[in-house]
Amino acid sequence: MEAIILAGGLGLRLREKVYEAPKVLAETAGKPFIFHVLEYLYRNGVTHAVLAVSYMHEKIISSVGNSFHGMTIDYSVEKEPLGTGGAIKEAMKKCNEDFVFVLNGDTVFDVDLREMYKTAKKDFVTIALKYMDNADRRGIVETENGVVTYFKEKEPGKSGTINGGIYLIDRQVPLSKKKKFSFEYDFLEMNCNRLIPFVSDGYFIDIGIPEDYERAQNEVPVMLTGRKGKAAFLDRDGTININTGHLFRQEDFIFTQNAPERIAELQKKGYYITVISNQAGVAKGMYTENDIAKLNSFINKKLLPYGVIIDAFFHCPHHPDGVVKEYTVDCDCRKPKAGMIFKAVEYYKSLGIEIDLSQSILIGDKDTDIQAGETAGVGRCIKAENNIFPEI
Ligand SMILES: [Zn+2]
Repeated sequence: MEAIILAGGLGLRLREKVYEAPKVLAETAGKPFIFHVLEYLYRNGVTHAVLAVSYMHEKIISSVGNSFHGMTIDYSVEKEPLGTGGAIKEAMKKCNEDFVFVLNGDTVFDVDLREMYKTAKKDFVTIALKYMDNADRRGIVETENGVVTYFKEKEPGKSGTINGGIYLIDRQVPLSKKKKFSFEYDFLEMNCNRLIPFVSDGYFIDIGIPEDYERAQNEVPVMLTGRKGKAAFLDRDGTININTGHLFRQEDFIFTQNAPERIAELQKKGYYITVISNQAGVAKGMYTENDIAKLNSFINKKLLPYGVIIDAFFHCPHHPDGVVKEYTVDCDCRKPKAGMIFKAVEYYKSLGIEIDLSQSILIGDKDTDIQAGETAGVGRCIKAENNIFPEI
């Protein structure tokens, strides 16, 4: 999935002081706010982000760089003020997929992007809405029977759904003929009939509001950490795809029966989808770890139409009888050993997710898969047979 982050905002104005830095770099719980936004995107399966920048863009580019946890980051630099609409239009030129998320770099709204992605519809824009008891500071977005009817001006003391500032846009939708325009006023409010509302009760914070910025210091890290989770550890060859033997070419990759649909179901049930695969072909000099990485992103691309994305891939490149010296070892990760499962648990921990292995599952087509799961203490280990992905 791809996302554009609107990061052109000026410095943060807080009661007495104005920060001499772009808003997205405002220090929040120990790091620039933009890193919380990137963390959020990363956890939601976004693999490519384009930052639309203008004010002090050199500073943003040098502090964020070109990748974050393996997520690629590009920049769209505004040379003159284009408004939010113009900035989105420009940034879209750096996108590749049919549908792209757009969000504000000074806001965290914990919407489940994978769920939101499922609303993607040709010629439409999905808009994430948040219900608020007190929508004082923002206008209310009225909906009726799943359709946006109109945008109301700010009215004190009103409750209702506000625009949460996350959109999923079909790139073919003509936003405006103009170069400079406001996405909110010139597009959204004028095109209610093109909007699909997506209401979420996810955590919401906007650091542009001084009280929210102070609140963010304590709340944002909590929002992004301390989650409990369960994982689905999936073997690759023979489980997700038909095993053709030392597979690494995209053209040889064929899903086993029902794999995409059933992996999507697992994700819907709350499992973090984790591939753990023995890839002794690396030790045997048949392909490289880079080839595996390329195939992994290809697999995720193939899964996208099913509204699912693999959260993490792990592989063991080793084999005791290899030919490539550095991989020719008797390691702890080659199944039936459980090293990859423990590595995955550590990885999720680094994202603030505590995996409960007893609530987790493992699916594999070999006895060695099942053994690895049992060694690690995975609650349920299930055998895949006859190139059919089992139903859980
Ligand atoms: Zn290994």
